[in-house]
Amino acid sequence: MVGPERLVTAAAKIVGTALSIVREYPLCDRCLGRLFALLGRGHTNEERGRALKLLILKSIHMALREGDEEAETLLRQLAPNLGPVAARLYEEVFGEPLNPKPCFICGGLLDDVINKAAEAAARELASSRVETFLVAAHVPDYVIKRENELRFRFKLAYTESIKAEIRREVSKRLQRRGLRPDFESPDALVSVYFEPFSVTVYFMPLLLMARYKKLGRRISQSTWLTREGLKYPYSVEMAFSTLARAAEGAGVVLHAAGREDVDVRMLGNGRPAVIEIKQARVRDLDLSALGERVRQASGGLIEAFFEGRARRKDVRSIKEAAEEHLKVYRALVVTSAPIDESALARLEDFFRGRQVKQRTPRRVRHRRPDVVRTKTVHSVKARLIAPNVFEALVVADAGLYIKELVDGDGGDTSPSFAEVLGTDAYCAELDVVYIIHEAHKGLATGWGSDRGQAAKGLQTPHP
Ligand SMILES: [Zn+2]
Repeated sequence: MVGPERLVTAAAKIVGTALSIVREYPLCDRCLGRLFALLGRGHTNEERGRALKLLILKSIHMALREGDEEAETLLRQLAPNLGPVAARLYEEVFGEPLNPKPCFICGGLLDDVINKAAEAAARELASSRVETFLVAAHVPDYVIKRENELRFRFKLAYTESIKAEIRREVSKRLQRRGLRPDFESPDALVSVYFEPFSVTVYFMPLLLMARYKKLGRRISQSTWLTREGLKYPYSVEMAFSTLARAAEGAGVVLHAAGREDVDVRMLGNGRPAVIEIKQARVRDLDLSALGERVRQASGGLIEAFFEGRARRKDVRSIKEAAEEHLKVYRALVVTSAPIDESALARLEDFFRGRQVKQRTPRRVRHRRPDVVRTKTVHSVKARLIAPNVFEALVVADAGLYIKELVDGDGGDTSPSFAEVLGTDAYCAELDVVYIIHEAHKGLATGWGSDRGQAAKGLQTPHP
C-alpha cells in the first residue's frame, strides 16, 4: 500500500513540476495538460491542464491570504503564463486587467485547430456515404521541437505528442457523429494540417473482389492507347470503368489474375480480379447491381460477378495464386495436311502429362522477358470437325502460351501439336473455358475420368 506521505510527495512532485514549467513558459490548458497526459484516465488534456493551473492558483491565493510576501511577485510572474484562468485573482490583487501570453507550444491555435478540423471533416464526410475514417495530423517542426524542449528540460515521462492529441480529439468528435475509426483500411483519410490550417478528406480506393467473363474477341484487358488512339475498340477495363460513377469515384483500375490475349475469350467460371475504384465516396454499393451495370455498359460483352470487399493484399495474392492455376482451353486448330481420328488419338496420348519447353513467343518477345519456360500439358481431348480442322480441349499450367503449343513457334515451343501431327498447324480460335483453382487441382489430372466434374466446371458461376 502506498502510504499517505508517499501520495503527498507524488502530488507535490506533479504540482512542483507544473509550477516550474509555467514559471518559464506560457502554456494553454491543453498543452500543459498534455505534458501529464498519461496520468489519470477519462480526462481530456484540457481538464488536466486546467486542474493543475487551478491548484497552482489556489496555492498562491493561500500564500497571499497568509501574508506571504513573495506570493504577490509570484502571481505577477505566473498569471500571464497561466492565461485567462488567472484573470480574476490577478485583477483583484493588482487592480488592472491581465494580459495573457500566447501558448509557447501551439501559439494558442490548438483548440481552434481541433474544433475547426472536426467540423470541416464532418461536413465533408456527411456529403458522402462512408462509414470509417482515420485521422492524420501534420504539425510543423518548430512546434514539435518546442514540445520536445519541455519534455527533455523537465524530464517529463508522462507526455503525449501534439499530433496524437489532434488525432484523438478530432476522432472523438467524428465518432460522436456516428463514424467509426479504422486503422487498417478506413473509407476516408482525414488529414489535418496545423499551420497553415487546412483539412483534406481523401476518399480511399474501394477494392472489390470480382470475376469476369469476356464473351467477345478483339477486346484487350487494359485500355491500350497508341498515338493513333485506341488500339482495340474496347477493353475489359473500360467495362469496369463504368463503376466509377456508381461509387462517385475518380477512376477504376483493374487488377486481374493473369490475362488472356486480345482475341481470346474468357469464359467458364471467369477470371479473378480486384477492381479498384479510386477516391470512392460511396462505399455501400449493391454488388449484384454492379454486375448488371458492367454487362449493360459493355453491351453484354463483359460479365462480372462481385464477391465482396477486397483488401490491398488480395491484389498480390490473386496474382500469385494465378501462377498456380491450371487452365482449360478450347482451341480451334487448322492443319495444312489433312488428318484423321487416329492422328488425334496419338495427339491425346502424347500430351498426357507432357512437359513442354517454351521460349517466350516471338510475337511478344519485344515486350516480355525472353526466357525458356518448362510447363506441363496435363491433357488434350480432340474432336475432328473437317479433314483439316479439329477442336481441342487442353488442360495446361498457367503461363503456357497455347497458340505456340499448337504451331510450335518455329521450333521455340517443343513439343508442339504441329510436331506430333507432322504437319503445320494453326490456332484459329482460342477460349479460356475454365480456370482450375489451387484447391481443385486434383480434377485436372483425371480429366478423362472426371468428366462430370469438368462439365460442372464449365458452367457459369453466376447465381
Ligand atoms: Zn497550447
